[in-house]
Amino acid sequence: MTRPEVIPVEGYLQHTLFYCLQPLLLLIVISNWCLDPTRAETYLLTIVFVQLVLGFSEHYFAARPAWSTTAMEKTRNVALVIVLSTIALTVAELYNVWLASPLEAFRNSIGLDIWPHEWPLLVQLSIVFFFSELLWYWMHRAEHRWTLVWRLSGHGFHHSFKKLGALNFGLNHPVEYFFIVLPSVLVELTFGVGEAAAGAAILTVTQASIAHANIALNTRWIGLLFTTNKYHICHHSAVLEESNTNYGCSAIIWDRVFKTFLDKTTGEAGTGPTEPTMWGKFLMPFKEPEDTAIAPGSTH
Ligand SMILES: [Zn+2]
Repeated sequence: MTRPEVIPVEGYLQHTLFYCLQPLLLLIVISNWCLDPTRAETYLLTIVFVQLVLGFSEHYFAARPAWSTTAMEKTRNVALVIVLSTIALTVAELYNVWLASPLEAFRNSIGLDIWPHEWPLLVQLSIVFFFSELLWYWMHRAEHRWTLVWRLSGHGFHHSFKKLGALNFGLNHPVEYFFIVLPSVLVELTFGVGEAAAGAAILTVTQASIAHANIALNTRWIGLLFTTNKYHICHHSAVLEESNTNYGCSAIIWDRVFKTFLDKTTGEAGTGPTEPTMWGKFLMPFKEPEDTAIAPGSTH
């Protein structure tokens, strides 16, 4: 394996990005959502805005130059993210059709009408965000611990990329969206959350984009609660012991609570020494690449 060189943080502009980019992006997207919490377009506009900011930052200040994508790879990734995001939104719609009525009936039958609608929206947003992340933490951990869940979810697809960047937030196997979308839908529909759920979704997708970005970012303070890209890139390591850490893609607090947190700058990303073809990635629920090192039970 070749270890991509990590460029040291140098210069005024790069230091500003290092300390300010993540907190500033979170502040901007949440403040913008607060201006009109019911606006339907905000979610997609936020994704475009965050990707543009991170994309330009990666272009000029890549932490690992070897991970910079070619124009062809970037075009492919953008096209894939558009198609896969459409699938994600469709899955969310399907869950709403299937689960909204049964979960509302369940809530009413056991008197679970406890959601604090009168509390400040930002507090409600935080509760949805961290609770959904708790459910995702265990689902993601199950994907990495049990071969059946690893295969059924196609999670290997997401890990198979050797180059990481902000666009990787949306590079997941189509079937995995049934796993990824479920935690937030369950919290939203079980408790009848209301408009705070949209704010939590915006925070989650912004955090997931930052977590994959190929830029040097600070981890102090913000890394107590939120996932930073240093932590998440460690999870993308091609080394099994590093990959089985930092399951929180947006919030890192649950890894700290459940002792799976690792603060380490990782070297090589991917499922193993080589990157599968795109066809091989989509086939991963049925056929694991021969050199995989991070699938459950791998011995490479
Ligand atoms: Zn994973």
